[in-house]
Amino acid sequence: MADPIFKRLCLIGIGLIGSSIALRARRDGLAESIVVYTRRKETLDRARELDLGDEYTDRIGEAVDGADCVVLCIPVGACAAVAERMAPHLAAGAIVTDVGSVKQSVINQIKPHLPEGVHLVPGHPVAGTEYSGPDAGFSTLFDERWCLLTPEAGTDIQAIETLTKFWQGLGSTVDTMDANHHDRVLAVTSHIPHLIAYNIVGTASDLEEISESEVIKFSASGFRDFTRIAASDPVMWRDVFLHNKEAVLEMLGRFSEDLSALQRAVRWGDGDLLFEHFTKTRDIRRGIIEAGQESDVPNFGRDQIEE
Ligand code: NAP
Repeated sequence: MADPIFKRLCLIGIGLIGSSIALRARRDGLAESIVVYTRRKETLDRARELDLGDEYTDRIGEAVDGADCVVLCIPVGACAAVAERMAPHLAAGAIVTDVGSVKQSVINQIKPHLPEGVHLVPGHPVAGTEYSGPDAGFSTLFDERWCLLTPEAGTDIQAIETLTKFWQGLGSTVDTMDANHHDRVLAVTSHIPHLIAYNIVGTASDLEEISESEVIKFSASGFRDFTRIAASDPVMWRDVFLHNKEAVLEMLGRFSEDLSALQRAVRWGDGDLLFEHFTKTRDIRRGIIEAGQESDVPNFGRDQIEE
């Protein structure tokens, strides 16, 4: 077991991401003690039953008191209110970080509240599932997944290095990037794919001439993959779209233009264009598999392949 990186690790929020951090940090001794804070009693009781920490509290001041690292594992839209409440209790020299899927808005929400001498190093583990809550976590969630840190220029180097070591300890490969750039990249690789999934599943269920039971009964693998994504937590994803509005709208504009080109190719029977396009996208999938970010098992390991 490695030496602990933090003496007192404070997790604010203990859903899928918070509980996965807790399980791995406990498994590998990354912190001497873990304090778990969450607002609802049911969630806190469940975290205690699952033995996710060493201390449990619904008082935020008590939670962050003396912590050398505080990780916000809450919906992006809750960051300002939480930062305001915890700020007066933060220890000098503490690292404050988060796991939110949007980065510039999180910086804007947290930074104004932090006292001098506290280091803000925002983070985003690019790892997850469609499940939420403390039961959803597992210790290997971050293995071989990226964690992107988006510190502003001038952030304490030691704080960035310590947090990098912590995420490596959780299993991730760490990279740093500018927060706005992060938000544009993730808009196209994560946020818009979710919006498309929410949309297609909604469209299928609203069709007048095809019943909902037919959609469920005859769902082919393409549609089923969308339903998995569209089952993701509504609060989390509402906040992602509210807090990454500009980048999502910009990328959505590009997406709509490209979709119109495909629509036109279908209408005019332009097989060459369709073939060329589908060949290019196939290469992207190969690249993702070669980079170790996806399994090459056919149909994600389901034993039957359909259309
Ligand atoms: P989750 O499983 O739904 O857990 C959310 C946690 O936040 C719970 O402890 C909940 O507390 C707390 N919470 C909810 N609303 C709150 C509020 N208004 N104020 C204070 N606390 C609040 O969520 P998650 O999937 O772990 O996601 C947490 C963060 O990770 C999000 O910012 C998300 O963008 C990011 N993220 C998620 C994924 C993913 O795949 N899920 C991947 C990467 C990053 P109570 O239960 O006590 O209400």
